[in-house]
Amino acid sequence: AETLKITNLHVSVEGKPILRGVNLTINRGEIHALMGPNGSGKSTLGNAIMGHPNYEVTEGSIELNGEDVLAMDASERARAGIFMAFQRPMSVPGVKMADFLRHATTNVRNPRRKEGEELIPMRQFRKELTEKMDQLKMDVEFARRYVNDGFSGGEMKRAEILQLAMLRPKFAILDETDSGLDVDAVKLASQSIAEIGGSEMGILIITHHDKLLDYNTPDYTHVMLGGRIVETGGVELARELYTEGYDRIRAAYPEAA
Ligand code: ADP
Ligand code: MG
Ligand code: MG
Repeated sequence: AETLKITNLHVSVEGKPILRGVNLTINRGEIHALMGPNGSGKSTLGNAIMGHPNYEVTEGSIELNGEDVLAMDASERARAGIFMAFQRPMSVPGVKMADFLRHATTNVRNPRRKEGEELIPMRQFRKELTEKMDQLKMDVEFARRYVNDGFSGGEMKRAEILQLAMLRPKFAILDETDSGLDVDAVKLASQSIAEIGGSEMGILIITHHDKLLDYNTPDYTHVMLGGRIVETGGVELARELYTEGYDRIRAAYPEAA
């Protein structure tokens, strides 16, 4: 199977060590839930995998099918098939969703494409986009909106799901931090991710909504504390933590807390 393998990963932000030896292997077709209290380093892991420039890897490795991901810049990682939705509400003035998606989709399908070279033909792209939006019950008008410009929480989520559907990455990191989503939006997101991801993506879901896992039963649940994964279990671990919180974990791993 194709594999994203993280070994002994140490990451600092502004000189401050945040991740302190993360080990995690995700195979395509697996769903991994990443849980842990606020500030434990979950988003830092996602950002480090994507190659965000503020996140400095000081030790360890990230490999995609044996290739050194750390040697790739952020856009090379995206082209190699690793995906994380832009998390902070960054708007891109003057760029419509459809144009953004056409660029991104072309780059993923043709990783050696240079800037300025041909995009997927417009007719073909439109057809695919319309099909996907129908499938996801999205209004085609949405693709004419400017990227993230005044998007509500629910619209950000839909934009992320549409990206997933079009790009079909090998590995997707879904970070739910600031999603002020209502229950219905979470349910729709959960169903859509299951539909799109099917058996072919490796998914790392960072979520505080147990509903998101209803349609995406994790094969593995990992708990992060103090920049390390301290426990790994199945779906029952996720359910325990949603119900009971993190007191047991903090007590069991005082050196990490
Ligand atoms: P989580 O997603 O688990 O809530 P984060 O990865 O966001 O945790 O944060 C882990 C720690 O790293 C926190 O102490 C946070 O303040 C710090 N941190 C993360 N990103 C940054 C950043 N860009 N600048 C400064 N500190 C950061
Ligand atoms: Mg599976
Ligand atoms: Mg976070």
